[in-house]
Amino acid sequence: MISKHYFIYTFGCAMNEYDTERIAASLEAKGYIPSDNVEDSDFIVLNTCSVREKPQAKILSYLGQIKILKEKRPDMIVGVSGCVAQQEGDKFLKNNKVVNFVMGTDAVSHIDNVIDRALNGERFADTQVDSNDFSISSFQRKEKIAANVTIMKGCNNFCSYCIVPYVRGREVSRTPEEILNEIKSLIDKGVKEVCLLGQNVNSYGRNLSTNVDFPDLLSMVNKLEGLERIRFVTSHPKDFSDKMIYAMAENEKVCRYLHLPLQSGSDKILKVMNRKYTYADYVEKINKAREVMPDIEFSSDFIIGFPNETDEDFNDTLKAVKEIGYDRIFAFNYSKRPGTKAYNMEDNVPANIKSERLNTLFALQDSLYDEKLPALQGVQTDVLITDINDDKEFPYYGLNMYNRKVAFSSDKNLQCGDTAKVLIKNAKRNCMYGVEV
Ligand code: SF4
Repeated sequence: MISKHYFIYTFGCAMNEYDTERIAASLEAKGYIPSDNVEDSDFIVLNTCSVREKPQAKILSYLGQIKILKEKRPDMIVGVSGCVAQQEGDKFLKNNKVVNFVMGTDAVSHIDNVIDRALNGERFADTQVDSNDFSISSFQRKEKIAANVTIMKGCNNFCSYCIVPYVRGREVSRTPEEILNEIKSLIDKGVKEVCLLGQNVNSYGRNLSTNVDFPDLLSMVNKLEGLERIRFVTSHPKDFSDKMIYAMAENEKVCRYLHLPLQSGSDKILKVMNRKYTYADYVEKINKAREVMPDIEFSSDFIIGFPNETDEDFNDTLKAVKEIGYDRIFAFNYSKRPGTKAYNMEDNVPANIKSERLNTLFALQDSLYDEKLPALQGVQTDVLITDINDDKEFPYYGLNMYNRKVAFSSDKNLQCGDTAKVLIKNAKRNCMYGVEV
């Protein structure tokens, strides 16, 4: 029998990566074998993201390449999932003849049926939203040391630039029991670290009758034997409470790293973005977290060149980055997204100014981080090994509690999943290098 192969191209966030695992598990249960090569594949899924303009344009260009392949192999099945699929539905199917099926974000919950329909030759769009219920049945996971676990879907915040609440719907949380069971089964398979995923994890549990909020959930996950580390993304600053700070501090498995997206240092811009906090509110939370956990590290997202962003507004962002001292930042030029409130605002910061500001921001972050590097050397840090490669000098690789990448050497025969104490000899921007002690 000739083996059939599948290929999934994942765009966007960790929620999409998680859904990709669910789609892959279903294809494998039907006998498909994963492939790294789209050209050899019989079943292709593009798991899309519509948060920014660039990835969306990339999807269309990718479909152009697949069209050429499909002309030679008309039996190839091509599906599109994720946020673009949810947003465009039938229209996407109509405009892209190469596509066999379009599955919205909730269609992953009945992925077996979606695949069967496609294999039976049906051409369809499934974008129905299961708004009141969010349950994920167990699925076969690949062996890993660190795994993502989705705890909720959707968002109630309506930031003016963001499409997520329109495509992923309102917030709905999975029950604590279901989440704990998924994590327990991951631990049984050797997982040592989980990352709890949601668009706004700080509002976890609001639709549940259990009275379990996110800090409570962290404490419950912390108690699971065999698990060593807990991470989570994403936290909306307005919902990041004192209770969250204490839950992070008191549960020893929770990493000392918080991604708290500020987006802009200007109150004027934050207001138009509908972020519902001021810069002062944000700094107060950062200071409180540092008071309770002096070693905590932060990262943030920034949108550069939002409509009406002046030099002064941008300088407020630079000032914020200096004042807070992030470990890492993620920043993008603003692009208009159809369907959002900001779509109707004039995108009036010229592209060259956006790029200039973005470069200035990255240069500032790099110089601030470079100043921090010497203090990271000579320090011992615990590293959870997630990868062993054939690098002669530093074969072991993993992250520490502060989400920093560490490559190191050891005289011992260590395994993936072991935690090693590493003395950092050389700290560079993208990775720290050391030796096990
Ligand atoms: S919090 Fe704002 S940026 Fe994040 S998903 Fe919700 S609407 Fe989008």
